[in-house]
Amino acid sequence: ELSHVPGDDGPGDSVRRPDPDAPAIAVRDLHKSFGDVEVLKGIDFHVDHGQVVCVIGPSGSGKSTLLRCVNRLEEPSSGQILVEGIDITDPETNLDAVRARIGMVFQQFNLFPHMTVLRNLTIAQQRSLKRDRAEADRIARANLAKVGLADREDAYPAHLSGGQQQRVAIARALSMEPDMMLFDEPTSALDPELVGDVLEVMKTLAAEGMTMMVVTHEMGFAREVGDKLVFMDGGVIVEEGDPAEVLAAPQHERTRSFLSKVL
Ligand code: ADP
Ligand code: MG
Repeated sequence: ELSHVPGDDGPGDSVRRPDPDAPAIAVRDLHKSFGDVEVLKGIDFHVDHGQVVCVIGPSGSGKSTLLRCVNRLEEPSSGQILVEGIDITDPETNLDAVRARIGMVFQQFNLFPHMTVLRNLTIAQQRSLKRDRAEADRIARANLAKVGLADREDAYPAHLSGGQQQRVAIARALSMEPDMMLFDEPTSALDPELVGDVLEVMKTLAAEGMTMMVVTHEMGFAREVGDKLVFMDGGVIVEEGDPAEVLAAPQHERTRSFLSKVL
């Protein structure tokens, strides 16, 4: 169960500890509306620790909104989202503490253009995690090496290819040492020849046991790396299951129709 740190019970200050027995992410009957338009219509799913869950579905089906609800970039209209057992829809929950455990990578890399690659990786470590410069540099360099960009720490983002920029964005997220990573179409903005290097980095992360939720159109990646494939359409999960099985033998007409267009 959730536990409080003694003596730290002020409103909004309560520190809830992650529950190691809870799933990494559990979503229960999640609804999200923008004005009158309901874009998530009752979503239930979970991601276990170390699992890679891939989310596919047509444009506008609510994939990004779902991902953004999981780290509360969007506020759910109703339902529950538990991150490591902590209810992030509870107003008492310290959202910053939960968000610090979730790395996010977007289609647009969102690097700081006026900072070097190394600085992009150290600034949040120093500001949010209060690491000193030497430690932040050390962790940043280890993560740049991991994504194959150890030799580019002094470059500015504009001097890198899109694929390199996305790998920097991944290294930046990893430098915060998150418990899980959310990816929203990380390769969709890339030229085709640059996609492979980014997927390779994600594959390595998965092999190391990182918990990952990946919105993607890369069916090969979903089949090879995913533990579970979720197909969304119209704000609901139409079907989910073993990626190879869903891709080879979809159970629903909407899934078949979508796959016939993308495969
Ligand atoms: P996907 O990522 O699957 O393409 P999104 O989650 O981005 O889908 O969008 C789902 C629906 O919600 C779309 O119809 C989109 O126009 C709408 N939507 C997303 N964000 C907002 C917003 N901030 N305000 C209003 N409508 C939004
Ligand atoms: Mg999207």
